[in-house]
Amino acid sequence: MDETRESPAEKLLIIGGVAGGASAAARARRLCERCEIIVFEKGPYVSFANCGLPYYVGNVIREQEKLLVASPELFRSRFNIEVRTNSQVTAIDRGGHEVEVREVDGGRVYRESYTKLILAPGAHAVVPPLPGVDLPGVFVLRTIPDSRRIRAWIDEEAARRAVIVGAGFIGLEMAENLKRRGLEVAVVEMARQVMPPLDEEMAVAVEERLVEEGIEVVLGDGLSSIEESADGLSVKTASGKTLAADLVLLAIGVRPEVTLARDCGLALGTSGGIQVDEGMRTSDPDIFAVGDAVDTTDIVTDAEVVVPLAGPANRQGRIAANAIFGRPARFRGVQATAVCGVFGLTVAMTGASEKALRRSGCEEYEAIYLHPGHHVGYYPGAQPIHLKLIFRPCDGRVLGAQAVGGEGVARRIDVVAIAIQQGMTVYDLEEAELCYAPQYGAAKDPVNLAGMIAANVLRGDHPLAHWNELQTAENPFLLDVRSSDEFAAGHVGGAVNIPLDELRDRLDELPSDREVWTYCAVGQRAYYATRALVQRGVRVRNLSGGYQTYVARRDSGRDR
Ligand code: FAD
Repeated sequence: MDETRESPAEKLLIIGGVAGGASAAARARRLCERCEIIVFEKGPYVSFANCGLPYYVGNVIREQEKLLVASPELFRSRFNIEVRTNSQVTAIDRGGHEVEVREVDGGRVYRESYTKLILAPGAHAVVPPLPGVDLPGVFVLRTIPDSRRIRAWIDEEAARRAVIVGAGFIGLEMAENLKRRGLEVAVVEMARQVMPPLDEEMAVAVEERLVEEGIEVVLGDGLSSIEESADGLSVKTASGKTLAADLVLLAIGVRPEVTLARDCGLALGTSGGIQVDEGMRTSDPDIFAVGDAVDTTDIVTDAEVVVPLAGPANRQGRIAANAIFGRPARFRGVQATAVCGVFGLTVAMTGASEKALRRSGCEEYEAIYLHPGHHVGYYPGAQPIHLKLIFRPCDGRVLGAQAVGGEGVARRIDVVAIAIQQGMTVYDLEEAELCYAPQYGAAKDPVNLAGMIAANVLRGDHPLAHWNELQTAENPFLLDVRSSDEFAAGHVGGAVNIPLDELRDRLDELPSDREVWTYCAVGQRAYYATRALVQRGVRVRNLSGGYQTYVARRDSGRDR
């Protein structure tokens, strides 16, 4: 079919020229040769890699040019798309189908008409209204100019100490990169854990790694003010702590950029982003919106959410163009699949956390933990993956997963991400056929093992208990089946040690009138113990995640 002749002659304007906007523009051109496409970008660059900015600050990416995925010239020559940088859209006249544009440099203001408009203005970094946030040396990181300013400040002021406010993805990536630049780094986080999207016990390993790397981690404390001091800046926290700094980075999150949308009367969603339908259409049929600026649906909890990630923004840009040019277009919602590197640790997650489930009012879920190697133990270099799988007891549907480790973490979370997307169950994970050779995995991949452990729980073969139930449980008999050396090195108060290999000979030491709650280091030996005892009629449960999870939860303050 000659699509050039079939396509309608649209004049498509796009506001914002980075992830969602650039993606929409390129897709639109692939679908329609005849239409006019103009992208307005208020900054000096389009299509740049904001995800690479922390690594540009850290000098891992040395040349700024490497961050530029495409230039206005390339958009012009390859796609016949006009990109106007340093051009801020200041108003949308929906009735007249026009936008008002201000040239950032010259100040010229003009109007441009459209038949269809895509809003891709992204989000802005949250800057709390606190004293000192506008002082020289206080930064946010969102754009290439932001990163250049931070680099220049480090060089010109010979900065030695940084305080990062916020221990989320950007905060922790910047902690690593500022350390790489030789700065002493402190991270201040309001939550009682680093990496707040993770469940608390999963974040402990990340916190430990930060501390090992010499990062000062201040948790459960917020920024209260920043002041100039005799030798730089003085950061005060809500608890009264004072931290000296030459550079402060505010990394406490982002808010959807909705000024234009709100001013022209487009409907906003309950999470504060622009409301869109599945085809990314706003409440005005000629205006579409994509990326960090929109509200979308969490496919696990059904909650309306804003998820500022590059993947959804790119896909939504493509979908908006599809919708405009009559192609099937349905954004299926988000599951917040994300990954982050922190000093050699990989932290990844997909779907709902326990926290998110509780927030959404869902009580019906079960969680298991496992700590397998990323490949078989006999091949040199196996590194543990701490994996948590969350699922629905009634049918085994996979709801979420989180993993922390060295190698192989992202691959496992990606597999679970697809399982969640397809509505699969833990029984499907048991049966998943995944690639294996000794240096890459195991014949029973960590994903298979997670499915098997969860399925065993659901089949009643493997009754579980959770550490947080310990305080309220009715006097269970705590059985530690690790070796006596492991027991001596640390154990749960009141536990009795019967190593697994001795258990069958020492059954008479178990009480008959109490439930037995057993644990080992990570859950595997206790699973074998549980199976042996279940078949002898003992009322037994395996404490999920083992001693390692107990310590992590205790240290995160959750079981205090
Ligand atoms: P953006 O890419 O932010 O683009 C919006 C653009 O619109 C901006 O350039 C802005 O200048 C322009 N604009 C706004 N208003 C106007 C206006 N009125 N007129 C003209 N132009 C306007 N996500 C991941 O998935 N993985 C990562 O590793 C990751 N790392 C990140 C690291 C950093 C430092 C940052 C800042 C973000 C990171 N993200 C990451 C998030 C990801 O970059 C965003 O989710 C994604 O870029 C959103 O795309 P968007 O098109 O909605 O907005």
